[in-house]
Amino acid sequence: NIPDLFESLRDRLVGDAQTVGSFIDGTNVPGEGRELALIYPADGSLLQNYRDATPTIVERALTSCARGQRAWADLSAQRRGELLAEVGCLIKKHAEDLAILESISSGKAIKGARAQLVAVSEIFRYYAGWADKFGGSVISVPGGQLNYTLREPIGVFLQIMPWNSPLYLAAWHAAPALAMGNAVLLKPSELTPLTALALARLAIDAGLPPGVLNVVGGLGQTIGEAAIANTIVKKVVFVGSIRTGRQVSAAAAKRPIGCLLELGGKSANIVFEDADLEAAAKMAAVAAFANTGQNCVAGSRLFVQRGIYDEFMERVVDAASKYRIGAPLDENSESGPINNAAQYKRVWDMIRLGLDEGAELAFGMAEAPKRQDGFLVGPTVLKNVRNDMRIAREEVFGPVLVAIPFDDEADAVAQANDSEFGLGGAVWTRDIARAHRVAAKVRAGIFWINMYRDMHVATPFGGCDNSGYGRSSGIEALYEYTQTKSVWVPT
Ligand code: NAD
Repeated sequence: NIPDLFESLRDRLVGDAQTVGSFIDGTNVPGEGRELALIYPADGSLLQNYRDATPTIVERALTSCARGQRAWADLSAQRRGELLAEVGCLIKKHAEDLAILESISSGKAIKGARAQLVAVSEIFRYYAGWADKFGGSVISVPGGQLNYTLREPIGVFLQIMPWNSPLYLAAWHAAPALAMGNAVLLKPSELTPLTALALARLAIDAGLPPGVLNVVGGLGQTIGEAAIANTIVKKVVFVGSIRTGRQVSAAAAKRPIGCLLELGGKSANIVFEDADLEAAAKMAAVAAFANTGQNCVAGSRLFVQRGIYDEFMERVVDAASKYRIGAPLDENSESGPINNAAQYKRVWDMIRLGLDEGAELAFGMAEAPKRQDGFLVGPTVLKNVRNDMRIAREEVFGPVLVAIPFDDEADAVAQANDSEFGLGGAVWTRDIARAHRVAAKVRAGIFWINMYRDMHVATPFGGCDNSGYGRSSGIEALYEYTQTKSVWVPT
């Protein structure tokens, strides 16, 4: 029984329905704005209503963050590391409950939600280790003076997150910020605020001072501008669509403060005729359909060498037919429904658009079933697509793979790079020299050779072009979350 399960997990991890909204200074602060809804994506039913935040709540959250940041920075780096490691342990302890809550409220398949919970705990463990290991350096200067650098916290971060992997993305960005002595005001998507609220509560349980990790729940329009204009915010991290990313970076530029943007993608997955075709076809489906395609690095543009195009597409259709998109809590589902009604409509509109542009439906349905509750869309494969069609240029953020033929290496690279995005990509070939050439030439922040999708907190992640700028995760994130002070001493 989903409503009962949802309620009991929410009560335990977040609080009762009336208190859902924001989490400030260690306590729930319900919203006072207009009513918003949390929907169960599998059947479109209402899980609960809650109220939007207000500019006053944002102000209160930021004032608390400023206080929290001072207390946090006063602790030794070793102590901060210990406390963050404890957050990781608490996440591990509550992983199953958090995974189910994430699955019900975002629609993510439970299998994927569990895997992400393992990663979330690992993210805190990883950055807990860095807390006391990232310092400045001594620099040689003429004249005999001493010059050294300090790497200092930037202060209070505003982190605005999307709905596709709510807890994973919150942890991905909050953990390095906290490890470097910053405080975070986390703004989850209004569609999926619960696991971010649960994370902030666990941080208090772990012993982080109140205000170090606050959450404001509600609409971007209410919270974004009010928070970015507030001088307490010293840098913004935004993960989401290009459209909103432009607004957020423009607002940040007015102050001006720094911004890290992780936006959309239309990543190229390139298969040469000498590849292990079975492995490549299987992974082509996973690359495009994992998390129902609601994945910024989805391999949504599949480039297949012309000589094997027909044979390879049969394999891809076979892999698509075996890929199970179903109910979020079904143990057999590899992916769940689309998260929300607006996105559900967009996915079907984009499929329609692709067909109208001349693409051929190789697998899937041409339109939404007449009678269906919830936002389920099955794997969809569109063949004979050209890279200049809108279906190949725009991010769908749904389980829609477009397959485009190419002639040779130069053609594959040229078509892959003919995109406004530059986030992920992959090449499949047995020619090792070619694999490395293509990896070097495709514009992307992350690239796989004869594999797809693997990520780890220790490796850098980010995009180029309209996929955003800045690098999160790994050591590179530590540069984003610190500022350098250069100190001179006469000797
Ligand atoms: P979105 O841009 O609609 O919303 C993202 C966040 O911005 C939400 O929290 C929203 O409330 C907030 N927001 C909306 N208007 C705002 C405003 N005016 N000011 C400040 N904040 C505002 O994106 P979405 O639909 O939630 O997520 C899907 C997008 O996210 C896709 O384009 C996807 O590719 C991208 N994404 C990128 C990455 C990455 O790492 N590159 C990861 C996940 C998702």
